[in-house]
Amino acid sequence: METEYTDIKTVEVDMVCPRCKRGHMRRDADYNVVLPTYPALYPHKCNMCGHVENYTKAYPYIKYVKLVPEDKWISCSDNLPEDNSWVICQIKENEGVLWIPRILRYNKEKDDWYDHKLGWIKQNSDNYLDVVAWMKCPDVYDGGNIW
Ligand SMILES: [Zn+2]
Repeated sequence: METEYTDIKTVEVDMVCPRCKRGHMRRDADYNVVLPTYPALYPHKCNMCGHVENYTKAYPYIKYVKLVPEDKWISCSDNLPEDNSWVICQIKENEGVLWIPRILRYNKEKDDWYDHKLGWIKQNSDNYLDVVAWMKCPDVYDGGNIW
């Protein structure tokens, strides 16, 4: 069954050298082989320090990433925002009352949401309040042409 289409963007995934932490792992002419293992391994060599490692992927490679829609609510049970990012949130009281959306900052380590007036939502309310959904904030107004 086909489902609805999702906006995607392409990103390049690269491997930073685990030894010098500055170079990138590359398959160069001397290492342009695939090892007949299962799964196949690709030898890589750091372009700065010469460190050699084998990976199951050939770096750099292209990956498709789903774009988070800017105008749709995302259930917190499906997906959470990036750590320490400010997003528009739907707060829900224990009894089910929904608040007017507020802009909060999600913290992954605390697994809580920060509000500039209320502080940490779940912690300060003894879990009476919870955030059930969020969406991206619009871009900051740049003073552009509104006339
Ligand atoms: Zn290196």
